[in-house]
Amino acid sequence: MTRRTDILIVGGGLVGASLALALRGSPWHMALAEARPVEPPPAPSEWDVRMYAISPASRAFLEGLGIWQRLDEERIAPVQAMRVRGDRRSTLDFSAHDSGVAALAWIVESGALARALWAALEHQPRLELLCPAVPQALDASADDLRVNLSGGRAIVARLVVGADGARSFVRTAAGIDAEPVPYGQSGVVANFACEHPHRSIASQWFRDDGVLAWLPLPGERISMVWSAPQAHAEELLALPDEALCARVAAAGGHALGDLRLITRPAAFPLAMLKARSLISQRVALIGDAAHVVHPLAGQGVNLGFGDAQALADVLGEAANARRDADPGARLLLRCYERKRAEHILAMRWTTDGLARLFASRAPGAQAVRNLGMNVVDRLPLLKNLLVSQAIAGGLPSQAAAQRGWRASGLKR
Ligand SMILES: Cc1cc2nc3c(=O)[nH]c(=O)nc-3n(C[C@H](O)[C@H](O)[C@H](O)COP(=O)(O)OP(=O)(O)OC[C@H]3O[C@@H](n4cnc5c(N)ncnc54)[C@H](O)[C@@H]3O)c2cc1C
Repeated sequence: MTRRTDILIVGGGLVGASLALALRGSPWHMALAEARPVEPPPAPSEWDVRMYAISPASRAFLEGLGIWQRLDEERIAPVQAMRVRGDRRSTLDFSAHDSGVAALAWIVESGALARALWAALEHQPRLELLCPAVPQALDASADDLRVNLSGGRAIVARLVVGADGARSFVRTAAGIDAEPVPYGQSGVVANFACEHPHRSIASQWFRDDGVLAWLPLPGERISMVWSAPQAHAEELLALPDEALCARVAAAGGHALGDLRLITRPAAFPLAMLKARSLISQRVALIGDAAHVVHPLAGQGVNLGFGDAQALADVLGEAANARRDADPGARLLLRCYERKRAEHILAMRWTTDGLARLFASRAPGAQAVRNLGMNVVDRLPLLKNLLVSQAIAGGLPSQAAAQRGWRASGLKR
């Protein structure tokens, strides 16, 4: 069975789903193909092991989509301040108050965000949800692309968006090169109850054995991300619960007293990935399909939301100018790519640079990085620049975030 549509989005993770929603006012018919069935909600007492630090710009984007309002406020924690410690007593402190914002970020459960996005998509007109569905082949012609899906179905679309994550099928099928560069590290994540209140402060330690982050959760709880060399990550995962709690508490200088595990640890291998291009004939890549950055700055999904917003804006402006605009027109896709180039480069440069600088055992590297942190801490202008980058979180414009983003350029 072959169906025609205007836009096919492959991958209904947070980024692909947000694009489908951002295009809801468009004149185009869309389909969204997702390989995995939608996750059932967890028991209310359980905490998702995957937590995201959502930047103020991403929050504004999600508010514009009506998604933030669907989240349970009681399960979201603001980050009011951030304390970064180097491996030679260097310090770097940021605060929402000094930066003139309500919060530096909000910590949100991945599953809650995904469910809110999918619940909104279920009622979207002119959108066909294909789930579970996996593309098997992609054939391009001048006017459209044919995508054969599992189960013998086929979709012919004028634009195919690859939102299918780091191992993107769309990217490979479209012939866009991308080499993952492994960091030789895994991100070990777990949630803990803590003895002392965290006062909405996130902490990060650049240590010999990796980068350890504690992110505040509602109540006296924290979420941990320890980006650790592979052998150390495996050792952490193999520890009995009490030993893991003791190890994590000690690594953070017992800043929050004793810790008690509330969510079993999980690990994610870390790699940097850069697609040679964000576009090819009638194809655009967004999110991790286009770029994967080190999680030490907590910006991967924020960068992906920025892609979704930028692509929706470009397509929305075209639709407003001409109702019969071709969403796969090369000019539009080039415009999308140009809009994103600087944000992606800046984020990759910062996260990859920091990850390598702090993993380096080269003589002098330790002194340079610690001096650098102390210097930044004493330079308010540079510090504000770093904060504004983190607040924008790879979204097109900080001004858009501050005034409350209007979901896309589409007329409603
Ligand atoms: C330890 C760790 C901590 C992190 N913390 C943060 C953080 O605090 N803040 C932040 O901004 N980012 C963070 N990130 C990054 C973030 O996880 C990713 O950037 C984000 O999940 C990318 O979303 P995505 O939708 O692009 O891709 P994915 O989440 O990979 O989603 C891709 C979707 O496509 C589907 N799919 C894949 N292949 C196919 C196919 N062939 N056909 C159909 N569907 C397919 C998948 O099932 C999935 O639903 C972290 C990453 C790690 C590893």
